[in-house]
Amino acid sequence: MVDIVGVVGAGQMGAGIAQIAAQAGIKVLLSDVSIDVAAKGKAGIVKQLDKAVERGKLAADRRDAAAAMIEPVADLEPMRAADIIIEAATEREAVKRTIFENIGKVLAPTAILATNTSSISITRLAQATTDPERFIGMHFFNPVPLMPLLELIKGLATGSAAVEAAEAFGRKTGKTTILATDSPGFVVNRILLPLLNEAAFAAGERLASIPDIDAGMKLGCGHPMGPLVLADMIGLDTIVEVLRVFQADFGDPKYRPAPILLKMVEAGWLGRKAGKGFYDYSGETPVPSF
Ligand code: NAD
Repeated sequence: MVDIVGVVGAGQMGAGIAQIAAQAGIKVLLSDVSIDVAAKGKAGIVKQLDKAVERGKLAADRRDAAAAMIEPVADLEPMRAADIIIEAATEREAVKRTIFENIGKVLAPTAILATNTSSISITRLAQATTDPERFIGMHFFNPVPLMPLLELIKGLATGSAAVEAAEAFGRKTGKTTILATDSPGFVVNRILLPLLNEAAFAAGERLASIPDIDAGMKLGCGHPMGPLVLADMIGLDTIVEVLRVFQADFGDPKYRPAPILLKMVEAGWLGRKAGKGFYDYSGETPVPSF
């Protein structure tokens, strides 16, 4: 049973997790580095809910009910009441370790602790928790309210109660869960990143034009968007970083980043966030950069 969730980190992902939980009728205790940042996180969620009401996708009373379920909190103390605490703070191991040590002081004896990390080993992070058996990876996808997947990651010590609680949270919030074991990239990014890298190799080798590579994967393979558009959305610097982790951790040269990716990162063509990646976003419609 998940009635109360603690969400630590009220940024992009934490806010999304808080939103889906609140909309599912779960009470949310939302924290960040200060009560002001947590309150700002809640304000952002309410703005999203308002937009949904304006578009006729959500009834006004459902928005009000969801907003009332989210309580910004100044520290972790109120999370003693939580059935599950989900950490969605900055992707820095030292930050997460400190958070887990502090959560250890308030985590109820049967509650579960989860992390939304996208790259750090669950087994290693578990060492900073009071009870590795009750620790699990809950990898949500961005934007959380729209993406139906919840990838669960079992660390070496993760017990079945943690898996069941995480699955229950997924069911209640309308997500489909898949279960992966702990390995760099887990399962989805392990498959996705080499695909994006290969698309970059293809573009760099001029196997086809940038729009044709994207059209090929959309129309020939049923992908909802082309790999180069997706790479630009994720950020080419992020892609290079993750590929380097794969290359180092697996010791396998097949994960080496495509030379064109390295060149584009050097040029500051990082994708959408930089206004230019495989496409140039400065005009009304994106045009291929080369
Ligand atoms: P973000 O920068 O939007 O939010 C991080 C939040 O953590 C910030 O509000 C920050 O103030 C807060 N924070 C930092 N230190 C804290 C502390 N000690 N205690 C409480 N809060 C603290 O980042 P994000 O994109 O929401 O990413 C959060 C986590 O989710 C990361 O682990 C990331 O790898 C993971 N993730 C991100 C994505 C994505 O597409 N952005 C997808 C899946 C998983």
